[in-house]
Amino acid sequence: MLTRQHAQELDLNDPLAPLRAQFALPAGVIYLDGNSLGVQPAAAPQRMQQVLQQEWGQGLIASWNDAGWFALPRTLGNQLAPLIGAGDDEVVVTDTISVNLFKLLSAALSIQAQRAPGRKVIVSERANFPTDLYIAEGLIRQLDRGYTLRLIDDPAELPAALADDVAVVMLTHVNYRSGAMFDMAAETARIHAAGALALWDLAHSAGAVPVDLSAADADFAVGCTYKYLNGGPGSPAFLWVAPRWQQDFQQPLSGWWGHRTPFTMSPGYVPDDGVGRYLCGTQSILALSMVGVSLDIYAQTDMAALRRKSLALTDLFIALVEAQCGDLGVTLATPRDHAQRGSQVSFEFEHGYAVVQALIARGVIGDYREPRIMRFGFTPLYTRFVDVWDAAAQLADVLRTRDWDQPRFHARGAVT
Ligand SMILES: *Cc1c(COP(=O)(O)O)cnc(C)c1O
Repeated sequence: MLTRQHAQELDLNDPLAPLRAQFALPAGVIYLDGNSLGVQPAAAPQRMQQVLQQEWGQGLIASWNDAGWFALPRTLGNQLAPLIGAGDDEVVVTDTISVNLFKLLSAALSIQAQRAPGRKVIVSERANFPTDLYIAEGLIRQLDRGYTLRLIDDPAELPAALADDVAVVMLTHVNYRSGAMFDMAAETARIHAAGALALWDLAHSAGAVPVDLSAADADFAVGCTYKYLNGGPGSPAFLWVAPRWQQDFQQPLSGWWGHRTPFTMSPGYVPDDGVGRYLCGTQSILALSMVGVSLDIYAQTDMAALRRKSLALTDLFIALVEAQCGDLGVTLATPRDHAQRGSQVSFEFEHGYAVVQALIARGVIGDYREPRIMRFGFTPLYTRFVDVWDAAAQLADVLRTRDWDQPRFHARGAVT
C-alpha cells in the first residue's frame, strides 16, 4: 500500500517525529543529504551567540577554565561515547578525520613494530573514501621503512588479503558511496585472528547506525561530526582508542594539548595518561561548541530507535523508487539486507549528476558521487516518511520527463 496517505500515517505513528522541531530546516526543502552535511540544530544560533557574547566577549581568557573550553574535546568525547559503544575517557573530539587517521595509523604501526616487526602492510579498500588512502600513502612515505598499502576490490577479498605480513586493517564501516555496511564484530575478529589490528572509520555510521566498538573489540576508530552528527560545516572529527592501547603508545603529532601537564611549559614532551595524548594543538572552540548542541538532541533518544526508523525510511524509499522508476534505468547500489545497509540509499544512473541537479532545483536535496551514484541520506532525527514519498515521486517525474536533460543541470560546481 504505497500511497502518500500511508506515508502520512507512518509519520503520525512515529515516536521520533517530535525531534524534527529541534532542527532549523528551510521551508520547502526535502533534505536527504545529512550524510554529507547535517542540518542545523534549532538551538545552534543561540548557543553560538552565548559563546560569542558571554564566553568570549565577556569571559575572555578566563573561559578556558570557566566555560570549560580547555576540557571541551574530552567532555564532548564523553558525550559522544555512548553512540559508538565507547566508555568514559576513550574518545576525544578534535582535528579532522584525515589528521586523526595519521595519528592512529602511526600508533598502530608502532604497536606492531614492537610486537611483530615483520608486519609491514596496511590493508584497506580501493573503494574507501580517498583521504583515508591518501593519509596511509603519506604516512608510508614519511616512515620510509618498507611499509605498503594493500587494497582489496571487494570485501570478500579480505580473508585472502590477511596474510602474516599485515600490521593493520583500516576499513570504513559504512561505505560513503554505496551505503554498504561491514559486520564490525565479525571482521574485527577475523582481523585479530590474522594477527592484525582493526581501525574503523565511522564517518557514515556514528549517529547513523548502532555502533559498539567495545563489544566488537576494535582497536581504533575515527569519525565525523559534520555529517549525521549535525555539528556544522567543518566541525571537528573524533577518535577512539581502545583502553588497552592508550597507555603505552604514542602518536607523532605530540603537541602541547596532548602533554600530561601542558601549563608546566616544560621543554620535554610527556604524554597524557589516557586518550588525551591523541590531542595535538589548540582547537576551534566555536566549532567544538556546536557539536554539543547536536549531541544534546541525541541524548533524547537512542540508536536502537533511530535505527528502526532509518531502516523503515530506506526500505520505503527503495520500494517506491523501484516501483516507479524500475523501468527507467536506475539500479539499486545499496544492499537490501538490513544487516549490510547504513542509513543511505544509492542508485546508479548513467546521468546521475544531472538528475541530482534537477532534483535540487525542485527542493529535493541529495548528492552525487562518481561514478554514476545518486546518493540519498536518511537522517531519522528529522526526515519524515512523507518526505520519502515526495522525494521518490519527484525522482520518478524527473526521470520520466527527462527534465534532467538541460544544459543547466549538466554544469558542474567545485563540490558535487
Ligand atoms: C567524510 C569522510 C572523511 C572526511 O575526512 P576529513 O579529514 O574530516 O575531511 C574521511 N573519511 C570518510 C570515510 C568520510 O566519509
